[in-house]
Amino acid sequence: MHQALHAHQGELTSMRTAALRPCADPTCSVLVTGGRCATHARELDRARWNADVRRWYHTARWQQLRRLVLKEEPLCGDCLVDGRTTASTDVDHEHPHGGDPILFWSRANLRGRCHGCHSRKTKRGL
Ligand SMILES: [Zn+2]
Ligand SMILES: [Zn+2]
Repeated sequence: MHQALHAHQGELTSMRTAALRPCADPTCSVLVTGGRCATHARELDRARWNADVRRWYHTARWQQLRRLVLKEEPLCGDCLVDGRTTASTDVDHEHPHGGDPILFWSRANLRGRCHGCHSRKTKRGL
């Protein structure tokens, strides 16, 4: 335990004294102690995360959850509010999950919607 603590402190010290070099993104000249500047680190994070979220939609777990929602909410909730009866074909995240696995996988955050309502909502960027 003590050893690990010392190693960690040593790491912090060497980070402080490290020479600056340009951000790892070839188009960027911001000087950093290593890796990428804050902007490009964030960009990389986002790209990684988008890939992760796309993968979630291809899991058996999502297919199962999706089927459950469509079974429990066979009619589009938005259309019902407008007095129309339309079959749910899509499963929508009520609160945008923004890559948050809790919101993504929470049954309480999922709604059955018809394709029209779902794509309308997605277009609004929600
Ligand atoms: Zn950069
Ligand atoms: Zn609808």
